Amino acid sequence: MSVFKEKIGKIKIFRSLKIRIFLIIMIVGMIPGILIHFGIMERYMDNAISVRSNEVQTQVRIIADHLLTYNYLHDSSNDVVNAELAQLSNLYDGRVLIIDSNLKIIKDTYGISEGKTIISEPIIRCFKGTGASNHVTENSYIEIIVPIEEKLSGDAAKNTNSASGVSPRIVGVMLTSVSMESIISSYEYLESRAFIIEILSVVILFGIAYFLSQHLLKPFEKITEAINEVKNGFTDEEIHITEYLETEHIGDAFNQMMGRMKVLDDSRQEFVSNVSHELKTPLASMKVLADSLLAQEEVPNELYREFMTDIAAEIDRENKIITDLLALVKMTRTSADMNVEPMDINAILELMLKRLGPIAARANVKLVFESRRKVSAEIDEVKMTLAFSNLVENAIKYNVDGGWVKVVLDADHQYFTVEVSDSGIGIPQEAIEHIYERFYRVDKSHSREIGGTGLGLAITRNVILMHRGSINVKSEEGKGTTFIVKIPLSYIAS
Ligand code: ADP
Repeated sequence: MSVFKEKIGKIKIFRSLKIRIFLIIMIVGMIPGILIHFGIMERYMDNAISVRSNEVQTQVRIIADHLLTYNYLHDSSNDVVNAELAQLSNLYDGRVLIIDSNLKIIKDTYGISEGKTIISEPIIRCFKGTGASNHVTENSYIEIIVPIEEKLSGDAAKNTNSASGVSPRIVGVMLTSVSMESIISSYEYLESRAFIIEILSVVILFGIAYFLSQHLLKPFEKITEAINEVKNGFTDEEIHITEYLETEHIGDAFNQMMGRMKVLDDSRQEFVSNVSHELKTPLASMKVLADSLLAQEEVPNELYREFMTDIAAEIDRENKIITDLLALVKMTRTSADMNVEPMDINAILELMLKRLGPIAARANVKLVFESRRKVSAEIDEVKMTLAFSNLVENAIKYNVDGGWVKVVLDADHQYFTVEVSDSGIGIPQEAIEHIYERFYRVDKSHSREIGGTGLGLAITRNVILMHRGSINVKSEEGKGTTFIVKIPLSYIAS
């Protein structure tokens, strides 16, 4: 069945829904016609033959009685019986043979076989007592064979041991052949009428199938047209084709997709304008610093050094923004190529904290690592290290003098969790939902002062999502912040 479906699917024309609807209507519409044709026409012939046979048999039985009455089997010159036989053969355009118990033909209404002996299986069977029978010959005649039975009674019956006491004795057989011509001609007439009706119904069916296959698919054509209009940029109106529930659903899905694309487009535009702005800010500072140096004739050496130090800092900042941007672009969930391997998470976190130790020391912040168990998980080491570094760096950056940062590693049978908590300035409640946005900073000037680009948490979140993990934050202003990261131990490829 599936091979058949596959083959049909490969033929281009059958992939058209219109053609399929057309064919289904044609086939379903033609089934009753075919059934009626075979059911009625074929049965008509059998029925007509059996009606004709019964009719003739009844007449033949009456004549068979007369044959006995007039002792015809011994003297075939009886005018009454001969007239009846002639009438019977005329009426049915047939021939009657009367055969005696010696299989001798004593009467032939055609008059050509009288006196001859007939040896035929059905006749012999009839003599043996199988009763009347009929069959159709090769040359389209119905042959009806009826026994001529003499009723015995009294002593004769007793001799035959009959249970009823009255038992027939077959003394001869009547073989009547009747022509089927009239049956065949009315069959042919019926067949020709049926043929005309069938042709007419196929034509009407063709029309209906054609009309329906065109009409039923109109809404789908409309929806394709509407989508093309949007695709070609002629309109960005929503699509509403409400003729069918299905077209409505397609329209809704398309509108939702368009909505999502619009959101993506808006966010891309916003991102590009943010990027331009962020990249221009250090450049503008450098320009101001350089211009003011150029505007002065004799620049004192200390001032010159001070300005150049500021310019170098701005260059570093520009560099950091570009590095973060590149990292972020690489971390887009779809395009990133992951280099996943089973890794010792304890070792990774220890190494990372060791690297960040000097920064923490400079900020006078204490770094604490607490590992509750040994954890091995399938991760991309470089990306994950970057994600955790961003969290710990933030915890150091947004901390207070003499504060602390604590990293806790734990795991269950499915996930490992890393909690990064600090005793820092905290995040205002209303800012929490924005902190993962690109370039978002709670306090722009403070963040800039301590070297933030607003991209760190966006990068971290992307890395975590790429590992099918989750990130949550709890924070209280003035008290501190805790980030909780949960990552599956086994990497789930998309
Ligand atoms: P940035 O480069 O400015 O640090 P991030 O994306 O890493 O950018 O963080 C976004 C903002 O979230 C920061 O500017 C800061 O205001 C806030 N933030 C992040 N981590 C912390 C933290 N541990 N404590 C307080 N504020 C934080």
